[in-house]
Amino acid sequence: MVIVTKREATQEQVEAVVKRIEGVGLKAQVSTGEQHTVIGVIGDKTLLGDIPIDSMSGVERTMPITAPFKLASRQFREEPTVIAVNGTKIGGKQLAVMAGPCAVESAEQIVTIAQHVKKAGAQFIRGGAFKPRTGPYSFQGYGIDGLKMLMAAKEETGLGIVTEVMTPHEVELVGEYTDIFQLGTRNMTNFYLLREVGQAGKPVILKRGMASTIEEWLLAAEYILAEGNPDVILCERGIRTFETHTRNTLDLNAVPVIHELSHLPIVVDPSHGTGIRSLVSDMTKASVAAGADGLLLEVHHDPDHSMTGDGAQSLFPTQFETLMRELKPIAIAVGREI
Ligand code: PEP
Ligand code: MN
Repeated sequence: MVIVTKREATQEQVEAVVKRIEGVGLKAQVSTGEQHTVIGVIGDKTLLGDIPIDSMSGVERTMPITAPFKLASRQFREEPTVIAVNGTKIGGKQLAVMAGPCAVESAEQIVTIAQHVKKAGAQFIRGGAFKPRTGPYSFQGYGIDGLKMLMAAKEETGLGIVTEVMTPHEVELVGEYTDIFQLGTRNMTNFYLLREVGQAGKPVILKRGMASTIEEWLLAAEYILAEGNPDVILCERGIRTFETHTRNTLDLNAVPVIHELSHLPIVVDPSHGTGIRSLVSDMTKASVAAGADGLLLEVHHDPDHSMTGDGAQSLFPTQFETLMRELKPIAIAVGREI
């Protein structure tokens, strides 16, 4: 259920409603919009008993949320969520561009790539220090040393950091370095991890599970939101289908669907979505045309020597630069800036 407050409701009135809700053991989430403040009630609403919420001072009306995800829904919040991080607003007019290698491989590698992507107009450097590899003998990332290398790249370029966290007990450590936590496709339903980043006080990119429906994905986002972290960015990265030509099938339907169902920003990862370098630029353009709020792209200056298998889907810096230039008219055509 959501409680929509009157336009002229005072802070004290909103607080009084929140207190009443919390007083019976329910959780209240306040979302301040341009027109109204909305209070989401989380938990078993029969606990409200006879409390006359509808007639409390400052309350305009109460509304059930019919979607299984509540805080993530458009019913809870009409306006898009805009997340300000490291000087960039994600979910607003400007496209957020996060680019870099699959994994951090050395300080020199990450700094070099960061300089390239910064020059081409990206706002974030991406790169994994903890890598979720399909096989246990593959390179698993440099861990804390990788985080330090990312920090060196940030210091050198001013770019924000996006890096993956895989387990609840590493959230604190990764949070000391990153600006945005990345939760990978394999961890979309790791509910302990979702809850932990929900308490970490930093934005989270939640990648869609490779075999997850949009509803399951939004329910995963709900875990993070329900812990009090409103800064969730969804990332479409392709799903498994019967098609084998591409690594995954990039489900661009998800972009307008998410905008219909949710106020949360959505970025697209055409690198994992295709798995093939020659397809990445076209699918990036399609992502922007479909209304993506941002992009997560793999870029490597020497992909043939990449330590993960993702060299084949990584753009060369010059390709990335060209792509950024070619995206401009597309972005403008759909009311965005780049
Ligand atoms: C990645 O971004 O390098 C990655 C491992 O992504 P995903 O979780 O989408 O496979
Ligand atoms: Mn990768």
